[in-house]
Amino acid sequence: MNAKLLLDKLEKITTWKRREQRAPNKPLLLLYALARIEQGKTRLFKYSEVHEPLGNLLREFGPPRTVVHPEYPFWRLENDGVWQVAWPPPLQVRERRTQDVSAATLMEEEVEAGFPPQVQKLLEKDPDLRRRVARMLLDAHFPTTLHEDIQSAVGLDTEWETTRRRVRDPEFRSKVLAAWRNRCGVCGFDVRLGRTSLALDAAHIRWKQAGGPDVENNGLALCALHHRLFDRGAFTVQPATRKAEQGPMEVLVSDLTAGTRGLQESLMRFHGSGLLLPEKEDQRPESAHLLWHRKEVFRGPAHDSAGPG
Ligand SMILES: [Zn+2]
Repeated sequence: MNAKLLLDKLEKITTWKRREQRAPNKPLLLLYALARIEQGKTRLFKYSEVHEPLGNLLREFGPPRTVVHPEYPFWRLENDGVWQVAWPPPLQVRERRTQDVSAATLMEEEVEAGFPPQVQKLLEKDPDLRRRVARMLLDAHFPTTLHEDIQSAVGLDTEWETTRRRVRDPEFRSKVLAAWRNRCGVCGFDVRLGRTSLALDAAHIRWKQAGGPDVENNGLALCALHHRLFDRGAFTVQPATRKAEQGPMEVLVSDLTAGTRGLQESLMRFHGSGLLLPEKEDQRPESAHLLWHRKEVFRGPAHDSAGPG
């Protein structure tokens, strides 16, 4: 095993099998395991240690699902060649690869897992490789607005430059901002310094990581705050009427949002209100992309004081 081989294997894991649905289980567990190396902890660790933290990571950064399965990546990663499960004898023959191993079994049998010794050695001695691995996993599965929050939640140093500090597609940004006439689609924020718009982003509705294209109808001009809230699923956007793209669009805020200062002023007051839209119809958000956001990102249900639900 060398660094290149490891990165190749990880790249295979990060290839989405089903482009539509997000699959953050394995990358989040791998990031958690990387953080353990940073913290100088042992190579193998029990499932019971990770059950709750990984469940929380999945609930917070994974797609909105009623049930999360932190046990899946804990043993399924073994098939990807970058993970080792220390199966206790009773589990070796019976359940291995033939059926799902439940969280309860993993706990009862005190099953341990972690990077294989060679991988662990590589990662331990090479901080730069750890950084590259973290960056690859984050880039492949999450928009950059989430990277710092995820790093901090798994216990990785947030000073790490895991996000390339360049604008990925300057053309996408300028097209989207122009379509929205340089203002946030939610709040209308349009502060400029000279001729430059400040803190205004072109957000992808369907993430690039999920195959979202760099075209206007997959974009939303959002201020930095609303961009972050949108990528975290605190609100979504949907057609206010059935006639999708032709009609108005409304902002729907998640019922799970809470807070005191800022919640009303920055978010709740836009709930059920119209999104500012580009004049040209073909530049307005496409309903298929909005639907993806609603299913894979939005922390529903919507607050019930407005909208069709
Ligand atoms: Zn805004």
